[in-house]
Amino acid sequence: MTHLLVVGSGVAGLTAALDADGRPGVSVTLLTKATLESSNTWFAQGGVAVVTSSDDTVGEHVADTLAAGAGLSDDEAVEVLCAEGPEAVQHLIDRGVLFDVHDGVLARGLEAAHSHERILHAGGDATGAAIAAALIDRLRDSSVVVRENTTAVDLVVEDGRVVGVTLLDGDRIDADAVVLATGGAGQLYPYTTNPAVATGDGLAMALRAGAVAADLEFYQFHPTSLAAPGNHLVSEAVRGEGAVLVDAGGRRFMVDVHPDAELAPRDVVARGIAAQMALQGGAPVRLDATALGAEFLAKRFPTIDAAVRARGFAWDRDPIPVTPAAHYFMGGVRTDLWARTSLPGLFAVGEVACNGLHGANRLASNSLLEGAVYGRRVVDAALDPAGVPDHVFDEEWAEPIVVHLPSGGVLSSRADLQQLMWDAAGLTRDGAGLSAAAAELARWSVPAATDAKSAEDANLHVVAQAVVASALARRESRGGHFRIDFPEPGDGPGVHSGVVVTAAGERRA
Ligand SMILES: Cc1cc2nc3c(=O)[nH]c(=O)nc-3n(C[C@H](O)[C@H](O)[C@H](O)COP(=O)(O)OP(=O)(O)OC[C@H]3O[C@@H](n4cnc5c(N)ncnc54)[C@H](O)[C@@H]3O)c2cc1C
Repeated sequence: MTHLLVVGSGVAGLTAALDADGRPGVSVTLLTKATLESSNTWFAQGGVAVVTSSDDTVGEHVADTLAAGAGLSDDEAVEVLCAEGPEAVQHLIDRGVLFDVHDGVLARGLEAAHSHERILHAGGDATGAAIAAALIDRLRDSSVVVRENTTAVDLVVEDGRVVGVTLLDGDRIDADAVVLATGGAGQLYPYTTNPAVATGDGLAMALRAGAVAADLEFYQFHPTSLAAPGNHLVSEAVRGEGAVLVDAGGRRFMVDVHPDAELAPRDVVARGIAAQMALQGGAPVRLDATALGAEFLAKRFPTIDAAVRARGFAWDRDPIPVTPAAHYFMGGVRTDLWARTSLPGLFAVGEVACNGLHGANRLASNSLLEGAVYGRRVVDAALDPAGVPDHVFDEEWAEPIVVHLPSGGVLSSRADLQQLMWDAAGLTRDGAGLSAAAAELARWSVPAATDAKSAEDANLHVVAQAVVASALARRESRGGHFRIDFPEPGDGPGVHSGVVVTAAGERRA
């Protein structure tokens, strides 16, 4: 029995566990399914968006975030993120995170859709690893009970309250409060920048337990990942420095798609590449960075340069194959501003959660900040509920749709599921394709969760069905959700969606 059980060791889970550990008389357990370092957080490159200089304001960070969210971001959730961001980042620094410094002050970078230079970075383009490593060091010195290589399989619900989790080995951990910090679900797709652990486990567990999820139709696809195992991210900054996208014949195709060509908005470039790939029978397009020269590429992009060369590409000499890839899940387990879910005893923070902050599209570098800010708030809500406002869910969010999970059928492979999701619920969707995908997914079943892989497959299957149903229900295009049959945004600011699943999909023991 523990007071607080944190599932996941990214920035959100580490922050929550360390904050809780500081409270007198509180026992904290953190479990993570691989090593502590295995997380999306570890791979984050660009940095943390936060206001740290007098020429920038919280109001402008709020405005930029709302603009990126395409009318769907929750005002209050954004306000909390941006206003509490500076203190949360100071907390990271106090815990040993060494952000890069220039002339004695924190170095600040500029990223797309930010009106100010406000992106803090560490180790150049290794920000996530620097944050995670520092927090993991602190964790090892803390009294948090840490269990690596321990997979949570399901939530235990008694009398309508979450009271613990079951583990793959059949064990159970009881807790007064369970915090899901399990990250995203990039493994829903064959191409993703996310590591192997991103299989939507926490979201699937919450859905199976009866929690409400929200905005699952919104997935952000990064336009350029290396079309090689691991889909290493090739940052926009490479195109910003002058690299161009070419088709199989060496022709710059983006000039026909948008006046800004390769530097058009992220979703436009991603769809442009996907359309070109379809014309080429699925073959990746090429990013031509040869004009930048070997010395510049190595100095300006050390992490990318190393990754590209490790996979056998000499990108100073030859264009490299690139493909869009699933990058960030805007949707997740629905929470309020204190990370409380619709189930008593269950909390969710970071990429697994959806408090409406990112709306239909995430502003670059806001997600590490989200983990740092809401990873602190969740501790107050879980351990000192009397000290935070009452639990409220905004009534303007849509009534959840219900997805009936199948109880049997033919087996599918993960690769089949990923391809189906890419084709029907990827960068572009339409009603016919989504309906066919829903029917196909309902025919499939996955084997009982006997090992880590089959547990993940079961989770991906649940999440895929919820994503497809949500995408089918949203008959408009907005942010990360593009419907060919409804290419325009609907009237007004848009409404957050909701989804629940029926108990038919209860975990097979
Ligand atoms: C290549 C890349 C670059 C990025 N760059 C940036 C950037 O520059 N700035 C930015 O703000 N964001 C960036 N992001 C996004 C950002 O990294 C993530 O959104 C954020 O780190 C998520 O943090 P998290 O703590 O919610 O989840 P994660 O960091 O993903 O951690 C989830 C944890 O849960 C564990 N887990 C999952 N399932 C289970 C289970 N069943 N049982 C036990 N443990 C489980 C995982 O092993 C992992 O430890 C990037 C993402 C990628 C992939």
